[in-house]
Amino acid sequence: MDNITYHSNKISDSSRAALMGQHGCVLWFTGLSGSGKSTVACETEKMLFESGIKTFLLDGDNLRFGLNSDLGFSKEDRDENIRRIAETAKLMAQAGLTVLVSAISPYEKQRERAREIISPAAAFVEVFVDAPAEVCMQRDPKGLYKKALSGEIKEFTGVSSPYEAPECPDLHLETAKSDVYECAKAVFDYHSFLQSADSLMRVLTETAVNAGEKINEIYSRGYSVDYKSDNSPITDADRAADAYINAVLAEKYPDFARLSEESADDPKRRENDFCFIIDPLDGTREFVDRNGEFTVNIGLSHCGRAIAGVVFIPVTGDLYYAFTGRGAYRVSAKNAYTVFCQNDRVFVSDKTDKITVMHSRSSLDEKTKALIEKNRDRISKAIPCGSSIKGCLIAAGKAESYYRFAGTYEWDTCAMQAVAECAGGVFLQCDLTPMRYNRADTFNAKGFVIANMRENIWII
Ligand code: ADP
Repeated sequence: MDNITYHSNKISDSSRAALMGQHGCVLWFTGLSGSGKSTVACETEKMLFESGIKTFLLDGDNLRFGLNSDLGFSKEDRDENIRRIAETAKLMAQAGLTVLVSAISPYEKQRERAREIISPAAAFVEVFVDAPAEVCMQRDPKGLYKKALSGEIKEFTGVSSPYEAPECPDLHLETAKSDVYECAKAVFDYHSFLQSADSLMRVLTETAVNAGEKINEIYSRGYSVDYKSDNSPITDADRAADAYINAVLAEKYPDFARLSEESADDPKRRENDFCFIIDPLDGTREFVDRNGEFTVNIGLSHCGRAIAGVVFIPVTGDLYYAFTGRGAYRVSAKNAYTVFCQNDRVFVSDKTDKITVMHSRSSLDEKTKALIEKNRDRISKAIPCGSSIKGCLIAAGKAESYYRFAGTYEWDTCAMQAVAECAGGVFLQCDLTPMRYNRADTFNAKGFVIANMRENIWII
C-alpha cells in the first residue's frame, strides 16, 4: 500500500444516486447449498427489475469460473472468495446498483467482514436463506449432497465443513415454510423501505426538533422534578416530549412498534421486525442541573440492529441523524435543512494517538476511571459530558472514544449507535459482542464502548 494515494472523483455518491434514481445497496443471501439462495435471489431480482430498479446478481458459483477461479474450498480460500465478492459488490453498489449476492458464505466472521467492507458505502442486508439440512439434502438440486456424502466432494458445507447460521440476520427466510414468492417479496419490501429513507428521516428529524422545542419551552419556564421508582428524575419536559413523539410516530408509522423510556412497555413490540426506540429526554439529570447537555433520541431497530437514529440537542440546536448505508449527518436545526445533504455528512476521525475520550458526567464508574488512568499516555483529553452527545461527537470526529461499563437502557444507546456506526465508528458491548435492540430485557447490562476505530478499543 506504500506510495499509493486514494484519488477522489468529482461525482459524489449522492449525485450518482440522483441520476440513477436509486441508492446502491447489497442484498447478501447466505445459507446452505440447496437452501434456495439462487432461487430466491433470482425471483427478487425479477421483482426489483420489473419495478424499475437497476440490479445485478453476483452468484458465488458463477464467480468461481472467473474472478475467483484460482480459489479452492479451504478456510483461507473461502475467506478470500468472500472478500473479493464483497469488494466487487461494494463497487457495483457505489455505482448505484442494487446488487444481489448469492453465496453460501458459511462463516459469521466472513459475513461481518463483508458488512464492514460494504456498509460505509451502501446498505448491507444479510438475508439468511434458511432450510433444515435434511430438506436441503432432499432437494439436492445440483446433486452435490450425494457426492459430498459419498466423499467425492471434500469440505462440503453442511456435510464436511461447518455452516455458522447468522446470529442476527437483517432478514430471515424459512424456505421450507414459505414459498419462493413470499420469500422474495419479503426482500423486495425491505429493499423498498431502505429506498424510502428520505421520507422516514424527514419525519424523524422534524419530530425530534419539535419535541426539542417543547422541552426548551419547559426548560425556560421552570418545572418540578419527580423521582421514579429507580430514583431517576422525571419532569414535565420528559412527559410532553414523550407524548408528542409517540403520537406522531403512531400516526405516521402505525405498523412499527415503539419502545420508549417514559411509556408503558408493550411486549408485543418483540413480534415486530421494526421498533422505534425512544428516549424523549436523554440526560434528565443534566436537564435538572441546567447544564444543557441533554438530547432527544429516536432510534429505529430492524431485526435487532440499530438501522437509523436521530439525536437532537435542544439547547444548541444541533441535530445528528443517520440511516444505514446512507451515512451520518449533522445540521443546525435552527436553519432550514434538507435531509441527506452531502455537505452535512460527518465522519469519525482516524486518530489513534493522543485521543479524546468522552465519559459520563453524572455517573462515571470505577472501571471507566481505571481504564482512563491506565491509558493516560495515549489520551490527550478526558471530557465529561451528558447524554448521547458523547457518541455524536465521536461521529463528528471531535472525540475518539467513549466507555461506559455501567448499565444503561436501549433508549440511551440506539439512536447514538446508528449515528456513530454510520459515521464509520465502532459500537460494541464491553465484552466486545454486538449490541442488539428490541430485546425482552431492555437493560444494557454489559456496558458499551464507542470508538472511531477498533484500535482505540482498549478493554481491560
Ligand atoms: P442454493 O442457491 O441455496 O444452493 P438453489 O436455489 O439452487 O439453492 O436450490 C433450491 C431448491 O429448492 C430449488 O430446487 C428450489 O426450487 C427449491 N425450493 C423449494 N422451495 C423453495 C423456496 N421457498 N425458496 C427457494 N427455493 C425453494
